[in-house]
Formats: sequence, C-alpha cells, structure tokens
Amino acid sequence: MEAIFNSKYIDQKIFLDQHILPTIQPFHTQHADLIQSLTTKIILKAKEYKTKNPFEKLIHEYDLSSKEGVVLMCLAEALLRIPDVTTMNQLIEDKIPTGQWKEHINKQKDIFVNLSSIAFMFSGKIVDRSEEHETIFHNLMKKMSEPMLRTALKQGINILAKQFVFAENISAANSQASKHADARFNFSFDMLGEAALTLPDARRYFDNYQQAILTTGQNNQRGNSISIKLSALYPRYERNQLDRCLTHLLPSMVTLIELAMKNNVDICFDAEEADRLTLSLMLIEEIFKRKIITPTYRGFGIAVQAYQKRSGAVIQWLDQLCRQYDQPINVRLVKGAYWDTEIKIAQELGFEGYPVFTKKFLTDLNYLYCSHLLHESSKIFPQFATHNAFSISYIHHLFQDKEFEFQKLHGMGDEIYSYFASHDHFRCRVYAPVGGYNDLLPYLVRRLLENGANTSFIHQLKKENSNVSELAHSPLQKIDHINQTPLPSPRAIFPDGRLNSLGVDLSEESNIQIFGALTKSATSNAFNIVEGQDIPSSTIIDLCSPSNLTQVVGKVHYADQAITALALEKLVMYSSTWQNYPVDQRCRILNNFADLLEQNYEPLVALCAQEAGKTIKDCLADIREAIDFCRYYSQQAERLFQINSLPGPTGEINEYTLKGKGLSLVISPWNFPIAIFVGQLVANLVCGNVTIAKPAEQSSLTAYQVFRLLLKAGLPANAASLLLGRGEEVCPFILAHPSLENVVFTGSLETAKIIQRNLAQHPKVINLIAETGGLNCLIADSSALTEQVVRDVVQSSFNSAGQRCSACRILLIEENVYAKTLDMLKGAMDCLVVGHPLELKTDMSAVIDQEAFDTIQSHLQQYPQRYQPLLPSSLQGYYIPPTLIEISSLEQMTREVFGPVLHICPYQSHNLKSLCEGINQLGFGLTLGIHSRIDSVINTVTKTCKVGNIYINRNIVGAVVGVQPFGGQGFSGTGPKAGGPEYLSRLCHEYSVSNNTTAMGGNATLLTSITD
Ligand SMILES: Cc1cc2nc3c(=O)[nH]c(=O)nc-3n(C[C@H](O)[C@H](O)[C@H](O)COP(=O)(O)OP(=O)(O)OC[C@H]3O[C@@H](n4cnc5c(N)ncnc54)[C@H](O)[C@@H]3O)c2cc1C
Repeated sequence: MEAIFNSKYIDQKIFLDQHILPTIQPFHTQHADLIQSLTTKIILKAKEYKTKNPFEKLIHEYDLSSKEGVVLMCLAEALLRIPDVTTMNQLIEDKIPTGQWKEHINKQKDIFVNLSSIAFMFSGKIVDRSEEHETIFHNLMKKMSEPMLRTALKQGINILAKQFVFAENISAANSQASKHADARFNFSFDMLGEAALTLPDARRYFDNYQQAILTTGQNNQRGNSISIKLSALYPRYERNQLDRCLTHLLPSMVTLIELAMKNNVDICFDAEEADRLTLSLMLIEEIFKRKIITPTYRGFGIAVQAYQKRSGAVIQWLDQLCRQYDQPINVRLVKGAYWDTEIKIAQELGFEGYPVFTKKFLTDLNYLYCSHLLHESSKIFPQFATHNAFSISYIHHLFQDKEFEFQKLHGMGDEIYSYFASHDHFRCRVYAPVGGYNDLLPYLVRRLLENGANTSFIHQLKKENSNVSELAHSPLQKIDHINQTPLPSPRAIFPDGRLNSLGVDLSEESNIQIFGALTKSATSNAFNIVEGQDIPSSTIIDLCSPSNLTQVVGKVHYADQAITALALEKLVMYSSTWQNYPVDQRCRILNNFADLLEQNYEPLVALCAQEAGKTIKDCLADIREAIDFCRYYSQQAERLFQINSLPGPTGEINEYTLKGKGLSLVISPWNFPIAIFVGQLVANLVCGNVTIAKPAEQSSLTAYQVFRLLLKAGLPANAASLLLGRGEEVCPFILAHPSLENVVFTGSLETAKIIQRNLAQHPKVINLIAETGGLNCLIADSSALTEQVVRDVVQSSFNSAGQRCSACRILLIEENVYAKTLDMLKGAMDCLVVGHPLELKTDMSAVIDQEAFDTIQSHLQQYPQRYQPLLPSSLQGYYIPPTLIEISSLEQMTREVFGPVLHICPYQSHNLKSLCEGINQLGFGLTLGIHSRIDSVINTVTKTCKVGNIYINRNIVGAVVGVQPFGGQGFSGTGPKAGGPEYLSRLCHEYSVSNNTTAMGGNATLLTSITD
C-alpha cells in the first residue's frame, strides 16, 4: 500500500506529467477522431432526448447558482423530515418569498416548469409577511391556503425525491426492476442510509442489507446487485478505530458477503470520504487473507473514486491483491461525490495538500488513466459509472477487446445512454436507491449538487445554449489551464501570505506510525525541569498524569517570591530595549517560533497528552492554534506598528502610532496549555511588552518546553520570564509591582475577580483582559438534521472531556424532536472511546485533577437519573464518563460545570424568544450554537442572545485564530477577542505626534506645491 500512502497529496502537475499523460496520450492520439466523433453523437442524441420526467427540467431551471435553486435545495433537504406543522410553515414562509420566481416564467419553457414557477411565486405572495401584503385579504388567503400549500410543497419535494429514488422498499425495487423492458439494463440496489451514528442504527441498516440480498437473490436472472455503504454498518468506521472495525465491522461485511455468495447476488462497497479509503482497503485485504470469498464467486466489488489522487495506486494495489489470492474483483470506477467536503476538510485541518484534484479536467483525465489501469488488469472486471459523454466514448473505444459494463444513476443520465439504444453489446447497470424519505436526504442533496454544479457535465449539457463542440472537447485540451485561477492550497487560504498552521492527517499511515508510537516512547521519558544546584529535594514536586496516576510525567520546583522578584527586575531593566526593538525583528521571532512549534509536534503532543490528559487530536489542535496566534499577531503587528500620517491642515505633520506599554503578566490555564499560553504571551511580546508568563501549575512541564522553543526562536532571554509556581503565592506580588501595565488572564471567573480586587489596590489603573468560562447553550429546532446536531453536540460537549470554556453545557431541543435526539445522543455517547490520551482511538480522556474530579462528581450526585456509558475498569485516573442530564428548565443551571457533562432540556417553538432571554439571564455570554434551516429562527437567536461567539449549524468549539476571534461578555470575560483584530491594540499605548512644520521658517511645502 506504500504507493497509495505516498500519492495522497502528490502535486497534481507532477502526477499529470509522470503518470496520466504518458499512459493516455498514445491511445488518445491514435483514436482522437473516433472518440471525438462518438462523443459528439452521444451529445447530439442526448440533446434530442425528450425526458419523460419534467422534474429534470425543473432541477435544471433552478440551478444552484440561482437564489431560487438554493431555496429549492434547502426545502428539499429539510421539509420532509420536519415532524410538526408550525416548523414546516416557518420553513416555507422563510424560504419561498425570497425567490424571484417570476423571472423563471417564460412561454418557451416547459409547461411544468412554468406552472411550478407560478406556484412558487403565488406561494411566495401568500406567505409574504411584508406590510404591503398584510391586508385582510392576504391574511385570509394565508389561512385558507397554508395546509394546501404545505401539502403541495411536500408533494413537490417528494416527487423531486422520486426522480432519484427507485422504490420505497426492496420488494418493490425488485418487482420494478423485473418490469424493465430493456434486458441490457440491470440494477444495483442502494439501500438508502449512510453514516450510522449509533449501534442500533447500524443494526437497522445491516438488517436492511441482509433483507435486500435475500429478496434480490430470490429471482435474480437479471444479475441485479446490492451497493453497500460501510459507514452505515458501523458508527465508528474511521481509520483510528481500526481495531474496533476489525472486531465489529468486518464480521458484518463477512456475513453480507457470505449471504451474497449463497444467494448469488453481486455486492459492491461504495466509496466514501477520502479519510476512510485506507481503512476500507485494509478491511478488504483482510477479507482476501481470510479467504472469505469462494473462487467461483465473481460478484465482489468496490467503488474507486477517480477524483482522488490515489485512485491509480488503489487500482494497481487491488490488481496485485487479486493476483496474489487468485481472486477476481469488480471495480466500479466513479469520479466521486464528496469533492466540496474534501476541499473544506483539507482547508480546515491545514493539510499539506488536497487528496483530490482541484481541476475538473484532471479528474476527467485521471478517470481515463484509471480506465487504462483497469484495462491492463486481468483480474478486475471494470464497471464505469459516469454520465460524461467523453468519458463514455473513450472507454467504449479502449475496451473494444474486453468485457466491461457502464453504470448510471437512477434518474440521471438516461439521455446520455440513449445513444446506445440500438447497441446489442451495450451493458449498463443502474444504481437504484431504495428507501423511504427518512434516509433519503443526504443522497438527495448530493444528487442536487451534482446536477446543479457548474462543472458537472450533465449540468453543462442541459444548459439551453450549450455548445456541442465545446461539450465534446477532450479534457486534454484543457491541460494549459492547470495554473489558471488555482484553488489556494490548504496552507495558503489566508490573505497577505499568512500561512495556515500545518495540520496532521491522522488517517494517514505515516502519521499513525509516528503518533501511534508515542505511547511507548513518551512514558519512558520523564521531563524534569528542576533548574539550579541547591534545591532541597523536599521542594521538588512530582507531576503525575491525570490519565494514569501511577505515572510521573516530570519533576518541578516552583518559584517563590525571591525568584519572582529577580525575574521582574530583569524584565523591567530590559523593558525599554524591548519596546524599541524593531517590529520586524519581533515579528520574525514569532514566525520562527511558529515554525519551531510546527517542527516539534511529536514531543509536544507526547508531553501535553500525558501532563494535561488531552487526546492526540486535541493536542495537535492546541499546537496549531498556538502557531496561528504567532503568525496572525505578527501579521497584525506589522500593520499596527507602522507610523500612520493623519490628514490635517497644511503646515503640520500629524502622526499616530502604537507602542507597547511595558510590563505584562499573562496567566494561562491548563486546558489549552499551549495555545492560550502562547497566544497571550506572544501578543504581548510582539507589542514590545516585557512579559512574565505564569502558566497553570497542572501544565508547567508543557509550558516549559514551549518556552524553550520560544527562546530558541530568537527571543532575547530578558524579554520574557517563565514563572512556574502557585498562582496564589506569586501572583499577588506581581500584581502589586509598580511597573505592571497589563494583565491577561484566562481561567475561572472567581480567579479573575481575585485578580481584579488585587489590581484595585494598585496605584495605577491596570489594563485587565480576562477570558472566563461559559454556560454555553446549543439550540436545535425540528428543521435541523438530528444526525448533524448529535455529531456537533458530541464534539462540543465531550471533546477534551468537556474542559473547554467554549464547550456546550446545555442542549435545548425543540420538543417535537426531543425524544429522537435524546435517543440518538445516548447512542452516539455509547460509541465514544474513553481512555489513555496517547491512544489514537481515544475520544476522551481524564479530567485534569482530583479537585476537578470531585467538583464534577458532586454536581453529578444531584442527578441520580443521569445517563452515563460504562467506563473500562482498567482506567486509573480522573476519568468521568460522558454524562447526559435531563433538566426541565434553564433556571436549574446556575454555574458552569467544567467537565464532560451535558444538560438537555426541551423547549416549545413559540417560546424561542423567551428561551433566548433565559440564556441571557444566565449571565454568561461566550459561545452559542443554533441548528436550524430557518433564517427567521437564526435571526431571532443571533439578535437576542448576548453572546460573543455564535455558531450556526456546526459545532461550537475550536475557534480559529483570525477566522472566529474568540471571547465573551458578562461572566465570560472582558474582551477584546483573542485572535481578533482589536487584541493587540489593547496591550499598547497610543501616541499622537503633531509637528508644526511652519515653525522653522514658514510653510515651504504649501508654497512650493501650489501652481497658478
Ligand atoms: C452507478 C454509480 C455509482 C456511484 N457510486 C459512487 C460511490 O460509491 N462513491 C462516490 O463518491 N460516488 C459515486 N457515484 C457518484 C459519482 O461519483 C458521480 O456521479 C460523479 O460525481 C459524476 O461523474 P460524471 O463522470 O458523471 O460527471 P462529470 O460531470 O464529468 O464529473 C464530475 C466529477 O468531477 C469532479 N469535480 C468537479 N469539480 C472539480 C474540480 N474543480 N476539480 C476536480 N474535480 C472536480 C466532481 O467532484 C465529480 O466527481 C456513483 C455514480 C454512479 C453513476
């Protein structure tokens, strides 16, 4: 698999030159005319094709680039799943009036499209809430028509769905397939449903697949098959859960394969997101190794996505595997259905590249390249799933000497394949989704995206003015476009050259090797930071890991007041030198530091995971955030510290600039031992403030290692001091220091208030930036997708064992979907892995210390009915299981519980406004989530709630520096937001200098610049 691993992020130009072109060019050149001519014929025939299904035209009319297309897609995604009339009406009222339906009415258009547009326009007027329409007549109309309108729209969406869904159940699917008049077509039934979140869901999907195989096998002369999604069979179908996949998912696969063999039904495992690819191949290898498949069975297959750079290597690997075990396999070559998701993930996680091509023509060319590899294989039966005329024509010519089949999706591509109506040797399998609307929505959205995407061949074909010869172009004709308007690499998405921090792709084998090995190496290394000769052993403290109480991570000797006084003296002496240190050099140090952090992921993760109990993923995110802080603040500083000339009367020069204030104290918490420690420290340093950094005792070792890197990056040793010690012992002394100018604190509200009281005694008014906790809520109404809500809530509440100030503490669920959400949430919590933080499979580890453990436990004791999955008995640390507590009102919540504890509470949709006011009354204002498809609901929440960071239809944690500046109000903090544009200026003094240039001899500038 080495070649597969190595090609994930390969440069696409290199891949084009070294692999694709040498393979396809000879054949392409030799058959160019024939391929071109057949492509043109297919297109011409497709253009003549009169679709029987007018909804195709409707989809085309409202393409995704139009506002109305987006409205339709939104309705299609949400309307059918909403259980209650009120929310359904809200969604309709919200969406329909925003469209310009009238513009789509035109007598040249299909009658159905026109009628639909008229209906939408009319509906838009009925539900229009603008004053102009709030007449008695319209109100009356609205009342009369609402049920009708709702029913009509529901039916409309249902019909839209039916365009893509073959049948509601497998019996109906088989009987419909048997009635298909053309014997050259057979079917692959796709049992709708994907990404099970819970084991009961996975069991339901598994039963469906079994039933599908049994029913299809009963009378299968046609050779129909079943398509299977592995994500539906197991909720944790993820590479870092390999062991569990081998124990739980593999047996399900084996059972289905054996059943399929027994019933003589072909099966194909669909291709899903790129990070699942190697895992799926490992499972397949295991199936081959265990010789599950009998040599006579020729029905085992998998889908390979040609938009992935690794697809060629995957085919070569499969060919090799088949030869090794003398076993055939079917490969369905698709281009891939998750392109936009792959791009977003790579950007968010700062990967070194994209796993998919970023130019459509490269995907097309790679499809041809892969088809050559399939052509060369004697063991693979090729199945080409495409609706692209050029791809089809090319394959038709390449495979003149070899058996293969085409595949198409039900409800798409009929026009494309109509050219082959009279070809006897033509074979085509129709991918036929089967199921009810409950499981349909993600599939439907993918199809709508595919039909509406600008680059989609089908979309281009259906454009009224599309040009046949352009459509028939070979993708080779576009190779000059390779550098045109490139998508920025994931590292380069930020403006002005600021690098996105490098992410580590934990689905990649090389990284799994590195980070998976940390367990052993790290535990054998204790980190000792006891500096100095004469330290009595009685003052040396062993720091134990919260996730393994028997493990001493390192030894530390805390500073006392004498050491603190020395540190302060050193800083104060250096203060003016540092203030006048050139800004570009201060920035350079920050950038060097960012690079060093990037180069030291492994040791830092090892230490931070052990000391703070953070999982590998959380540690990596913590370091990435620190890196982003360095680069963001240095970029901000370069802009802020310029001398700005201000406009004014002639004869004066007016300048404005910022300068560091002097001495700063930064106090950081243990829950982000790297990001917050670094963020607060470098913000001050880049402003020219000499800084004393006091990290939480619990994360002293991590802070020490990070600080060493900062010195290595070039920070003059006198510009900053790292003070390890107990806050209550050393901080009052610093807070009283006459040179102190800034205090930046992140931690509990109680400590913030103590600091504030201390500062009140100071002769000066000291600037205090405090970022404190949150009692954060996430509201989800019944238009939201429950699976998405649950996924986001689980991340927001239980990642980092809930020890984030942004974590979701209270989930407010509209009562109509409360029971369903509660059920799914419990199921998803059951699937979380609680364990040692250095195990890649761990989702959640221990809480930080005994005190935290006791505080959380005492809260839990008030709720004997709480829901908690069982923990493995082998764990030896401050482990608390993910916990769910049902509450009946927000008033029950009075304080933040800093741990993996989520409270869930139902609400009624008509109480939304008062719910938001209730959130405000909690007094905190840090993060808030809203899951809804209804803009008016989102607007009510965002306008009413006084909260610093609002997240819509996503999780509520993991704010990105410069993208989601972070910080709250009320009990949650003072602002300015960390990682935001206002942060640095709060740490500086402003200077305004006005120079009367006429004082020395008059206004020469004026006199010399004026002409007659
Ligand atoms: C029978 C059948 C089974 C399928 N099974 C699967 C499956 O298991 N897994 C799966 O993922 N998909 C599957 N698909 C969906 C398939 O991936 C889509 O149909 C495909 O997106 C359309 O390809 P095309 O050749 O018909 O269209 P075309 O319009 O020629 O190509 C569209 C492709 O180009 C890609 N693309 C668009 N813009 C860019 C860009 N800027 N850079 C690079 N690439 C770009 C799109 O993502 C898409 O993959 C299946 C399709 C069929 C017909």
